[in-house]
Amino acid sequence: MPRTILPVKLHEQLTVTVDDIRIDGMGIVQITPTYPLYVADALPGEEIVIAVTQVDKFSGYARVVTRLTVSDQRENSQRQYLIDAGTAPLVNLKYQAQLDLKRSQVQRLLAQKGLDVPVAPTIGMADPTYYRNKTIVPVKWQDGHLTSGFYRRGTHDLVPMTDYFVNDAKIDQAIVVVRDILEKYQVTAFDPDQQVGAIRYIMVRRGYYSHELMVVLVSNDPTIPNEAAIIADVQAALPELKSFIFNLSPKKDFVLLSPNNRTLWGEAAIHDTLLGYEFIIGPNSFYQVNPQTTEVLYDLAAQKADLKPTDTIIDAYSGIGTIGITVANRVKQVLGVEVVPGAVADAQYNMRRNQITNATYLLADAPEQFKVWAQANLKPEVVFVDPPRRGLTTELIRATVEMGPARIVYISCNPVTMARDAAEIVQQGYTIDGAVQPVDQFPQTSHVETITVFKKNSLSQQAVE
Ligand code: SAH
Repeated sequence: MPRTILPVKLHEQLTVTVDDIRIDGMGIVQITPTYPLYVADALPGEEIVIAVTQVDKFSGYARVVTRLTVSDQRENSQRQYLIDAGTAPLVNLKYQAQLDLKRSQVQRLLAQKGLDVPVAPTIGMADPTYYRNKTIVPVKWQDGHLTSGFYRRGTHDLVPMTDYFVNDAKIDQAIVVVRDILEKYQVTAFDPDQQVGAIRYIMVRRGYYSHELMVVLVSNDPTIPNEAAIIADVQAALPELKSFIFNLSPKKDFVLLSPNNRTLWGEAAIHDTLLGYEFIIGPNSFYQVNPQTTEVLYDLAAQKADLKPTDTIIDAYSGIGTIGITVANRVKQVLGVEVVPGAVADAQYNMRRNQITNATYLLADAPEQFKVWAQANLKPEVVFVDPPRRGLTTELIRATVEMGPARIVYISCNPVTMARDAAEIVQQGYTIDGAVQPVDQFPQTSHVETITVFKKNSLSQQAVE
């Protein structure tokens, strides 16, 4: 086989102009029409000197050596560390450009699936900073100090970081407070080289409206010394503290949190409000991380669903019941399904707390439950789906079509799987109704949420096809 001749060599330096930007924030330089180089922290239009760092068969990577011109879309140059950390890869791009990028990404993904549908401008935040209601950060003893920050990619080197730019500032402060108290009592931290030590992560959640604070120590060891003194110090230092949890999560068994929680102090969960409804949030429950845009998202999704008092609706991938509970008063019945037991228990509690009596939350795998419902001849008017990043399954789509709701409202946190699923739903006799709506739940990052509404084709349409 002839050797492919690549258009660049490793370590070669070149002067180039950046052509485009990938959704993860990497600049794209087309060396030839078919061979791109990806360059971190390089914006479209900028003229830069690059050094090639990796050469693969179809693409390569390079780093910026010198920037000869600066894009008028560039900002936050003092926050370069967030790009290195990977926590805010779009931080160097002006916010309007971030919103435009997300819209065009959604449009492109749909077009790739043959769906030529309008995509509305991305709905953004008035202030796209310090918005997250939750964070989890690794800790490590380094140079005689307990350090919190991020692991440099592919290393066991923890780079200190205290200003995450996207977290509620009170959360960033709480991380430092707890870290310093653990340091004072010389608590061990998990050492990734030796695979020993206790604390792996500190997690903090804060209610946007309630200001209730939850601190979780995620530990590789079942106990830590001086627990009582640590509890007293944390409690004294954080007046908003409502829940202090010890999560036993041995590194060999769990990536992040385990289901094994022990309340060190206060409550086992915190509360917050969403569209006027109150929700209990436990340490393991999924809860949308951007409370401000979540209200916009849910409100829009409910409007687009065109709910009627006689409707039976499904809330699938329901988490702690947020979507169903916020619309229950507008419909006849809500049927929810979710696979995490703690989240279903929270959903049932949340129903009672909000005096909702027409909702039922089931613990089941959504595709399995959909088959059961379809076989039982359930005929919901509206089906809401809000799956994790991997999206829906063919089984779930088939069962949905069998139930034949007038509308499917698809809330997605991953436009790649959404576009794939949308093509399948359209093929099964539905049409995308109006524009697909991106909502910026995750400013400064490459993620984007979308709402897509499908309406069932009328019989005459089906006859034509
Ligand atoms: N609608 C909720 C949660 C969305 S996140 C909200 O907006 O807050 C997606 C949820 O899907 C998570 O709670 C996750 O636990 C759940 N999930 C993941 N796989 C599932 C499956 N196979 N069946 C049912 N639920 C699932």
